[in-house]
Amino acid sequence: MVCPLPSVSFSMLSSLNLEQRQSLNSSSKPMSASRRTELLHNFNSPFELRQVHGLVIKTGTPLSELPMLRVASVCALTLSFPYAQQIFQQINQPETFIWNSCLKDYAESDSPFDAILLFHQLRRHDVCLDSFTFSFVLKACVQLQDLRHGRIVHAFVEKLGLQLNLVLQNVILHLYATCGNISDALLAFDKMPQRDAVTWNTMITHLVKRGDIDSAYQMFVQMPERNVRSWTAMVGGFVQCGKPKEAIELYTKMEESGLKPNEVTVVAVLAACADLGALDLGIRVHEYSNKNGFKNNIHICNTLIDMYIKCGCLEAADHVFEGMKERRTIVSWSAMIQGLAIHGKAKEALELFSEMIRTGMKPNGVTFIGLLTACSHMGLINEGRTFFSSMTRDYGIVPCIEHYGCMVDLLSRAGHLEEAHDFIKQMPIKPNAAVWGALLGGCKVHKNIEMAEEAMRQLHELDPLNDGYYVVLANIYSEAKKWEDAARVRKSMKDKGLKKTIAWSSVTVEGLVHEFVAGDETHSQSEEIYHIWDHLLIRLRSKGYVPNTSVVLLDMDEEEKEKVLFRHSEKLALVFGLISMPPGKTIRIFKNLRVCEDCHASFKLISGIVNREIVVRDRNRFHCFKDGSCSCRDYW
Ligand code: ZN
Ligand code: ZN
Repeated sequence: MVCPLPSVSFSMLSSLNLEQRQSLNSSSKPMSASRRTELLHNFNSPFELRQVHGLVIKTGTPLSELPMLRVASVCALTLSFPYAQQIFQQINQPETFIWNSCLKDYAESDSPFDAILLFHQLRRHDVCLDSFTFSFVLKACVQLQDLRHGRIVHAFVEKLGLQLNLVLQNVILHLYATCGNISDALLAFDKMPQRDAVTWNTMITHLVKRGDIDSAYQMFVQMPERNVRSWTAMVGGFVQCGKPKEAIELYTKMEESGLKPNEVTVVAVLAACADLGALDLGIRVHEYSNKNGFKNNIHICNTLIDMYIKCGCLEAADHVFEGMKERRTIVSWSAMIQGLAIHGKAKEALELFSEMIRTGMKPNGVTFIGLLTACSHMGLINEGRTFFSSMTRDYGIVPCIEHYGCMVDLLSRAGHLEEAHDFIKQMPIKPNAAVWGALLGGCKVHKNIEMAEEAMRQLHELDPLNDGYYVVLANIYSEAKKWEDAARVRKSMKDKGLKKTIAWSSVTVEGLVHEFVAGDETHSQSEEIYHIWDHLLIRLRSKGYVPNTSVVLLDMDEEEKEKVLFRHSEKLALVFGLISMPPGKTIRIFKNLRVCEDCHASFKLISGIVNREIVVRDRNRFHCFKDGSCSCRDYW
């Protein structure tokens, strides 16, 4: 469609640019519709709009061809607001609709405050406000976490009787919760005449964010109809609050309810599997994820790597990592480096780091924690020192407390206790309990009572209620046969009301987690377990096993000590794994504390005797026992 434009007087066009003037003055040539549209769009201020407006009048072009949203946004926050209103009146378009579009754009822009400014303009100029107006300006308040303006808008909503508008009520709820005002959110929730899944999910999500998992779960239970988002929020909530077991139970119920987990659900449940070492479910979720087209989701891949590593399946983690290739992020690389480190594969971890640098990926603080852990677990002192200085010099990463902790751990384990102590003294940030705890751990390995006492003095102040440190100190005394000192430490624990954390180990058989504490007789197959252990013990002794009773802290006779030793939770879990899992299948044990020296020595022998791989994940790392030796090479 072409429309010939008559020539325009020069004075009228004085502010138009050269190109515009030329096109308009060349009256002999008909102008294309697209060219005209382009001209009509060529204004960025009320002043330029007036010029274009003049052109429209002069050329007899219908006013409705002006881009109205643009007219609105150019005039919205200026004194020309009434001018825009006049234009809207002339074209007979409901102005509220146009202003709302403008408001929406502002609310979603980088400067949502403009939406609030526009809202005030609308009120000042008596524009009729509707529910969309409020929902957009409320959105801006949420973006800005601006409770003051939010309350003003809320008051308007009430005044105009829009309490029945569910969308608006949901945004108001979201606003109060986002601004941290959960009591007002709850009040709004209670007052709502009707609620939908969005309402409930908003409350659940925000309660989870505040760490109030119990109230969130109550909401979840009361909710009349739960959707995937509700289940996902709750599963993720349990993981965040350190309740992976509850997360997995809920996930199972979600599957039973017939709802299909989405990508966010998958990430949440995989994180729970990682925390709990629930490999079977992890594998099943991995398959589900692949089947449902989530294979390329980076977040899922990274969580899978973490899950497989924490379940002791380095190979499976590596498989996912290999499959990612160009899509790898620094999170993937760091997770893999850390994974190799805690599996005692320091050399591979360091090689992977070199490969990462070759690809041009920049390391971050987490990468260096992995590298220092690798060095620490294998006693690579010089490499560790080099990485520590390189992280700041070459990559501008300022070490944080975790990095200092790794260095102290590295030096202490390797027996450089004096150097570790000096290192702590020279730290530019205040050492925390973990740093002194690392020194204390080294003192135990290298039997340095004096330094242990110094570390304990500091720990006493920093973390007085942590039973673990007292136990280590008592251990150090016991091993040195300083029974009175050991008893003194135990008494001071008792005086403080501290109880030794109960050690437990678990093993998963056919998807069921079986937990054992030391001396456990509650398991339905207890009798059989002890019976098989006695048989195993005979074969162990024939291979040269001598019970290491020094790990038993109690002052009792040797025979009693042996009895205690033989009933350690990890031994019970292992025997149960042996009798209930098919031959050759790897037994994976999870222990909440550090594995003891005696269990470590006996597991090495047992792996050879029964010809099986045994993987133990303890509080610090993995031990993979195979053919009579352990992946940690006894350095742990
Ligand atoms: Zn043990
Ligand atoms: Zn080991």
